Amino acid sequence: MLIVMRHGATEQEVQRVISVIKEMGYQSRPMPGAQRTAVGLVGNDGRVDASRLEGLPGVQEVIHVTKPYKQVSREWKADSTVVRIGPGVAIGGTDVVAIAGPCSVETEAQIIESARQVKDAGAVILRGGAFKPRSSPYSFQGLGRPGLALLAKAREETGLLVCTEAIDVEGVGWVSEASDIVQIGARNMQNYSLLKAAGRCGKPVLLKRGLSATITELLLSAEYILAEGNHDVILCERGVRSFDATTRNLFDVTAIPVVHQLSHLPIIADPSHGTGLREKVIPMARAAIAAGADGIMVEVHPDPTKALSDGAQSLFPEQFAQLMKEVRVIAEVIGRRVTEPAPAAAR
Ligand code: PEP
Ligand code: MN
Repeated sequence: MLIVMRHGATEQEVQRVISVIKEMGYQSRPMPGAQRTAVGLVGNDGRVDASRLEGLPGVQEVIHVTKPYKQVSREWKADSTVVRIGPGVAIGGTDVVAIAGPCSVETEAQIIESARQVKDAGAVILRGGAFKPRSSPYSFQGLGRPGLALLAKAREETGLLVCTEAIDVEGVGWVSEASDIVQIGARNMQNYSLLKAAGRCGKPVLLKRGLSATITELLLSAEYILAEGNHDVILCERGVRSFDATTRNLFDVTAIPVVHQLSHLPIIADPSHGTGLREKVIPMARAAIAAGADGIMVEVHPDPTKALSDGAQSLFPEQFAQLMKEVRVIAEVIGRRVTEPAPAAAR
């Protein structure tokens, strides 16, 4: 529920609303705005009786948030959230942003070469898993903490920002120290203790849609992170399980405009996991940008034929460079632009 204060409502009137919310057994989230202040009420699982609040001095109106998720909804906050990642890089504004790199960090040479190649093509954020949530326990599980150190090195060498996944609560601390974005993978979208830890990590969080999660479930998972006080959440459509095994997943392009309507949070698209097929990544990345995605996350490997994970869906560096050329054109058609990497600092 949102309690919208009158223009010019006094601080005491706002404080009164906050204390009544507390007396009612809920928590308040004051949201000062340019025109007027609103106070959010959270902690309710159903409709709240607003009669005590409606009559308070300074209160203009009480808006019931009808969706099960509250703080992530457009009803709660009409303006789109812009998540600042690092100098000159934000997700959710006019710019579209490319996150690219290998599925996994494999070796120092591999991640540094990947970083250089994706930066040359136009990515501003390097991806690469150090902790890999693999479907089989016998598949490559990632390098772990040494992988984080290699990402830090690639960041240092190229100036790219870094996005990497945390797969458990313990890892959130390590990942948030080393990375500019903490990724929560599809398999963990409903790992609530992990979501809560991500909500306290102090870094932007990239939350991927679960393998068979509805859009409502995705937004409820994001709500867990906001409820802990972290408002810097970026959603990611990465395809859902379907009856058709022709592609690895069914890439749900519709989720992009639907999420934009339901939520103020940015959403990016991952056509690599969305399709699982290298040749299908480029058309689906183009489609995602055309549909309004705030960015793309694409797997790119210096030599995908030798990749330790997800080689079949990883682009060759030249393919990614071609994709970025196309993405720039599509972005422009819809009144957006691609955030370009800063030129390498003179050494
Ligand atoms: C990944 O980004 O490498 C990954 C494991 O993705 P997802 O969680 O979407 O499967
Ligand atoms: Mn992968």
